[in-house]
Amino acid sequence: MYLEKMLKYNEQFVANKKYEKYETDSIPNKRMVVFTCMESRLVELLPKALNIQNGDVKMVKNAGAIIRKPFDSIMKSILVAIYELQAEEVTVIGHHDCGMSHVDTDHLLETMTEKGVKQETLDTLQHGGINLHEEFHGFDTVEQSIRQSVQIIRNHPLLPKHVKVHGLVIDPSTGKVDVVSD
Ligand SMILES: [Zn+2]
Repeated sequence: MYLEKMLKYNEQFVANKKYEKYETDSIPNKRMVVFTCMESRLVELLPKALNIQNGDVKMVKNAGAIIRKPFDSIMKSILVAIYELQAEEVTVIGHHDCGMSHVDTDHLLETMTEKGVKQETLDTLQHGGINLHEEFHGFDTVEQSIRQSVQIIRNHPLLPKHVKVHGLVIDPSTGKVDVVSD
């Protein structure tokens, strides 16, 4: 398990006071929420490419930077960032070559059963009204998907009028961003 190495490193990190240069408070300096994909290539690249330092933004992530329902957990996080933490802008950032584009949900469900999830369990969920194909369906084009997420945020009944919502797409190899909705 990688966790052991992490914990060992953490002891040293704290002992050597390496946290000092990251000290800040919980109000985002740039008054922005960034909602992006959990993509591992973007962990460091995205903040570097957009000059985001520790303390600058509230960052929320999921697979694909996808919001499809107005009261999912991402939307709640965005609202809390706005109402409790002074965020005034929301930037949704998708990326090229995203794992959530063209998800083969048949294959995904097959992999679940291969890894030990019982077919019976999948059937029970489907009968309970959870459409797993729909739940795991990603998107066809990232630009269209980002515009859709932006629309849901922008049209949310609880979003204050002054909050600006933008949509960007980033290239995970160069860090270049293109604006798709502003
Ligand atoms: Zn992605």
